[in-house]
Amino acid sequence: MTIYQNLIGGEWVGANATKNINPSDTNEVVGLYADGSAEDTRNAIAAAKAAFPAWSRSGIWERHVILKKAGDEIMARKDELGALLAREEGKTLPEAIGETIRASQIFEFFAGEALRLAGETIPSVRPNIGVEITRDPLGVIGIITPWNFPIAIPAWKIAPALCYGNTIVFKPAELVPACSWAIVDILNRAGLPKGVLNLVMGKGSVVGQAMLDSPDVAGITFTGSTGTGKRVAAASIEHNRKFQLEMGGKNPMVVLDDADLNVAVEAAANSGFFSTGQRCTASSRLIVTEGIHDKFVAALTAKLETLVVDNALKSGTHIGPVVDERQLKTDTDYIEIGKKEGAKLAFGGELITRDTPGFYLQPTLFTEATNQMRISREEIFGPVVSVIRVKDYEEALATANDTPFGLSSGIATTSLKHATHFKRNAEAGMVMVNLPTAGVDFHVPFGGRKGSSYGPREQGKYAAEFYTTVKTSYTLA
Ligand code: ADP
Repeated sequence: MTIYQNLIGGEWVGANATKNINPSDTNEVVGLYADGSAEDTRNAIAAAKAAFPAWSRSGIWERHVILKKAGDEIMARKDELGALLAREEGKTLPEAIGETIRASQIFEFFAGEALRLAGETIPSVRPNIGVEITRDPLGVIGIITPWNFPIAIPAWKIAPALCYGNTIVFKPAELVPACSWAIVDILNRAGLPKGVLNLVMGKGSVVGQAMLDSPDVAGITFTGSTGTGKRVAAASIEHNRKFQLEMGGKNPMVVLDDADLNVAVEAAANSGFFSTGQRCTASSRLIVTEGIHDKFVAALTAKLETLVVDNALKSGTHIGPVVDERQLKTDTDYIEIGKKEGAKLAFGGELITRDTPGFYLQPTLFTEATNQMRISREEIFGPVVSVIRVKDYEEALATANDTPFGLSSGIATTSLKHATHFKRNAEAGMVMVNLPTAGVDFHVPFGGRKGSSYGPREQGKYAAEFYTTVKTSYTLA
């Protein structure tokens, strides 16, 4: 089998490789992907540093053309790349193709942004002096990504980094190197100069750590677990480096008595279980007022009965497998914890077998949960959801906000008064009214508060906050 190699300073290198396994069929090897070393990482950082002066001064048309070419190729290959994504990560084919289209749209958006780079000219408070405010690129950006969005998250970090004139060392998650390799290959062929974008696949503890330890990495953008995020933060402060963290969520979805039952059930099923619950914006706490509680649980349970868990590539599958054995163990451990804590297992909870060997778990719904239980406080990152019964809107809002996290927060209601109050008072970076807590646009800010995020928002125009540093220049005229 060919080895998909790392890209360092414009050369494909690396002989040691790790198997990329399909979670829908563990007999299938998606491919062999290079296992980078700390030395590879240091070489990649040196290449990115050497490429920075020229790329930071490159013309905006050159950046536009490369980003646009990449976006166009990803779109043209959406079915093939979507299938690759579904094979390596386990989300369903329609979800995987949708994510691939999203990656293309992100490149198209930043291709446009490259042509709109601008600053401000402001009169000084002193006579005969002009003030200009401009944005400079940061330098070498370290990009560390998780496994749950193998093409969209790399796209939403790589595209703005390049657009604003930075160079990159990119380390994808160990479980999903294939889509990352594909987009790096596409950008490389689109005409990026050598060293501008370097790919080092490999272990977090080796490649990721070598990035954290380098004084030459000017900024790190990280999406992943809270524990690793804290390491990124500590190491970055040590080096006086800019950093941006997107970590976990325990996103609430409030369902009020006056909700449209169908809207609420569709939003809850999507938020909790689609993409196998493996989205940081997934809703794992359904906070339901007394008057609708029993009807809602009955309707949601009936909906779960209809969802097909199977091989991600099979047509008709609604929920693919869990990503790997380790995550499956986390999910089943939490199911046991939920039972011991006294929540009632209302649906699912069992492993299932399918034609192909994979990590299949039923969508799992707990009722009679409290907000103090571990299943309601800790991020599980699987298809495991709890229903918490509350008296009224005020208790629902207080419960929704009573969490260490603050990424996304949703409400299902037909009351304008409650929707408006909730938008104002939800302690989250993103608020959804009558919509799933997951599922966001690519041209507007993405990010959270409290334990979920740190640093500037990602995506849209707001991405410039992280990928640039502001300069104020004064000129005596
Ligand atoms: P998960 O538990 O969901 O895999 P992680 O936070 O471990 O989440 O992984 C997110 C990303 O962080 C992955 O690319 C992983 O390889 C990387 N990573 C893990 N450990 C480290 C580390 N010590 N330093 C830098 N990156 C790391």
